Amino acid sequence: MARIDESVDAVERVGAHTTGTGDVDDTDDTPEILVDGVSKRYESDRQSVQALSDVQFAVETGEFVCIVGPSGCGKTTLLRAIAGLEAPTEGAVVINGEAVGGPDTDRGMVFQEYGLFPWLTVQENVCFGLERQGMAREACDNRCYEMLDLVGLDGFADAYPKELSGGMKQRVAVARALAVDPDILLMDEPFGSVDAQTRERLHAELLDIWQETGKTTLFVTHEISEAVLLGDRVLVMSAEPGRVKELIDVDLPRPRSRTDESFVEYTDWIRSLIGDETTDRF
Ligand code: ADP
Ligand code: MG
Repeated sequence: MARIDESVDAVERVGAHTTGTGDVDDTDDTPEILVDGVSKRYESDRQSVQALSDVQFAVETGEFVCIVGPSGCGKTTLLRAIAGLEAPTEGAVVINGEAVGGPDTDRGMVFQEYGLFPWLTVQENVCFGLERQGMAREACDNRCYEMLDLVGLDGFADAYPKELSGGMKQRVAVARALAVDPDILLMDEPFGSVDAQTRERLHAELLDIWQETGKTTLFVTHEISEAVLLGDRVLVMSAEPGRVKELIDVDLPRPRSRTDESFVEYTDWIRSLIGDETTDRF
């Protein structure tokens, strides 16, 4: 089973990465993600909104980067641009040396509102992307069980989303995003809809999964302490227009505790950077 999965994954990766110049992946100094001078303006008949302005940063393979900023500063727009769901007005998103032209299986996305199909079972939801890629049924099912095991939902394959708690639904969404074995996991306020206690558990599980799989992870939140708890680095954004204010290395060992003095120093620092633009619920 593992062999089938690996060969399918390998085919996907070849499709995703070697269609261009071919040797860019071997260049050590090519970051996995380069957001290169990205600006985004939304135009409509009534108004024009500058959602992002000249956003520039790079992320290395395997890094966990949190993106924090007040509501409306362009976090979702930035993540959607990296996912290839939104085209920048200026600049480009470059993944392993290739400009993003649209969504691809090298990037998996988890949305705030789960995004599960209510009429499909957990298993059908997790297998959805795999079947669309033409993976054989048995291989899909095996991959699904592997992912449900990874997110702690063993035994829930036949349940429907409405039978699950918010935390469980979000675990299914994570399993579905990981099923196609993306290089990059993009998460947009994924735990915003679950209670604080469940969120704590999901944080710990996500860090375990990240350590186990080595996925490059971009995690959007508007909560400063969540960003400091999870990230190797925290990208602090400011609003109107959305810009990078600071990119901070979080030099704290894991597991981190919100009550540690140095943890509080980081959250205070970030709060002072954002000023009165946000309120932190923790
Ligand atoms: P955040 O996720 O940080 O709350 P968003 O990326 O959702 O911010 O939005 C950034 C800005 O762009 C906001 O002013 C928002 O109203 C605007 N915006 C987002 N999506 C659209 C859209 N599809 N059309 C027009 N304006 C949009
Ligand atoms: Mg958002």
